[in-house]
Amino acid sequence: MKKNKGNVLTIIICIVVLIAVCVGGFFLIKHFTGIHVSLNSDTKFDITFDTKANVKADETPVPQNWSVSMPIFMYHFILDDYGPYPDTENFLKPETLDEQLKYISENGYQTVFMNEFDKLYKYEKPVCLTFDDCFVYFYNNAFPLLKKYNQKATIYVITDYINGENYLTEEQIKEMDESGLVEIASHTCSHQYLNEMTREEQLHELRDSKQRLEEIVGHEITNVAYPTGLNNDTTVDICEEYYEFGVEMLGGTYNSLVHTDKYRIPRIYANRTMPLETYISYLEQAKVRIN
Ligand SMILES: [Zn+2]
Repeated sequence: MKKNKGNVLTIIICIVVLIAVCVGGFFLIKHFTGIHVSLNSDTKFDITFDTKANVKADETPVPQNWSVSMPIFMYHFILDDYGPYPDTENFLKPETLDEQLKYISENGYQTVFMNEFDKLYKYEKPVCLTFDDCFVYFYNNAFPLLKKYNQKATIYVITDYINGENYLTEEQIKEMDESGLVEIASHTCSHQYLNEMTREEQLHELRDSKQRLEEIVGHEITNVAYPTGLNNDTTVDICEEYYEFGVEMLGGTYNSLVHTDKYRIPRIYANRTMPLETYISYLEQAKVRIN
């Protein structure tokens, strides 16, 4: 009798240990492989793989505390000859942009889009290249250089000008958007001074330009540059509804601890006569700090 009792106890202990090993093993497999095993009503094993293991590279956890110092350069036209135009400083030679992109590429700087603004903790030395007005010169002279160096830029498009003389066509805008190297953003419909407009007029400029660009590229447009940087509280009020970020014209290197208004982000004017040394001194301010 005593012997039988001992056997029963041994069997019970074995069963308990077996169950514990099975349950523990199941959870370990689930945790480390991302494989989900479930028994459904048809008593078939239903095995699915989630993407947890595969997307880790792009799922950098958001650090609790991070800040960034980043030069955001503002360009206008990339063209050798500025012709009869009086604003000669706005016309950067393609060879100058080539020189700058070469330096960026060879020195570990990382060009980012304006729409990556809240994900900058993923980078070490981010820099943003933005182009206002653009015209077809961007497509002809700057876009090939971005492809040459595999670098990114954000361009601010005036939507009333699309398909017009010397301006970008819808096809060019779409092609650049699809290249993954160019972020399309709004520079309003007509490029008039927003701060001199009524609320209704500003609403048209900001909302309708966004809508037009979204129809062309087929996805959301999140950034705007105010023509000549001018804006007022009404501008910001409207942008809070339609955009995530708004850039001004001047103001030096962006610092997230100082420039806390995301609708008044400063930029650095990359003009025709800026020496490469000056450009580099701005680049050297690029830094992400994670605390
Ligand atoms: Zn402009």
